[in-house]
Amino acid sequence: MPTFHSCGACAQCAAGHPAYCHAQQSLNVSGGRGDGSTPLSRDGSPVHAGFFGQSGFATHALAHERNTVRVPAGLPPAVAAPLGCGAQTGAGTVLNRLRPRPGDSLVVIGAGGVGLSALMAAVAAGCDPAVVIDPVAARRALATGLGAKAALAPTADGDLVTAVRDLTGGGAHHIVDTTSRPEMLRQAVRMLRPRGELALVGLGTEVTFDVMSLLAMGVRVHGVIEGDSDPGRFIPEPAALHRRGRFPLDRLVTTFPFENIGDAVDGMREGTAVKPVLTFG
Ligand SMILES: [Zn+2]
Repeated sequence: MPTFHSCGACAQCAAGHPAYCHAQQSLNVSGGRGDGSTPLSRDGSPVHAGFFGQSGFATHALAHERNTVRVPAGLPPAVAAPLGCGAQTGAGTVLNRLRPRPGDSLVVIGAGGVGLSALMAAVAAGCDPAVVIDPVAARRALATGLGAKAALAPTADGDLVTAVRDLTGGGAHHIVDTTSRPEMLRQAVRMLRPRGELALVGLGTEVTFDVMSLLAMGVRVHGVIEGDSDPGRFIPEPAALHRRGRFPLDRLVTTFPFENIGDAVDGMREGTAVKPVLTFG
């Protein structure tokens, strides 16, 4: 299965952190191979492609050896697909970066495909309690079914911080935020216990924090992309957990025939499809 590409030679790649490859942008989002050429052409003219070093939405893809990962033969393709990016991001943030110990508390803010993958990894790692925050009732119900001890709706009056601090015995060890919403992040910092860790996973712009509360509490804030994962080494880990029933990624997936791609987008926007996967033929 394909995933993001990396050069394999820079300092970050050599250290096992290819998500921070020096050529990450040119290899994944330039529309070409990173050297100015494109993987496809038509009538001699370049066709821009190679998103994530491969491109998808097609029956065939041109990928590199480095961003092609072997998965167990029994893993259904519709389950493998999210492991290339979103599920890898959520699970990797927990298992590669936060590395909770059994019994640690972990809170996930935003229960989309990334957040629920983080939740499943946290549950598999023995986090207790695992707590989810999301405004959509159906997603909160799904989170509870996946092992969250509590699933809370965001509230405007600040009760959320108190609720999380109560549930976690004085503040969470770990928080994964997938929303990047400033009001959620400011609350997240107050939900942590001393020396607690906040992982920022959602794409966002700017947020301001009260510096005194960060330093007085020894809070650590991580920026994490692609779960800080080395795909060839990491993806088999959630795949193996899935086989043992401990990472039920299939419960997040809704498949759509490729020709109904518009329905998949609508389902994602409306929150009815947590992780839409397109299928061919
Ligand atoms: Zn590199």
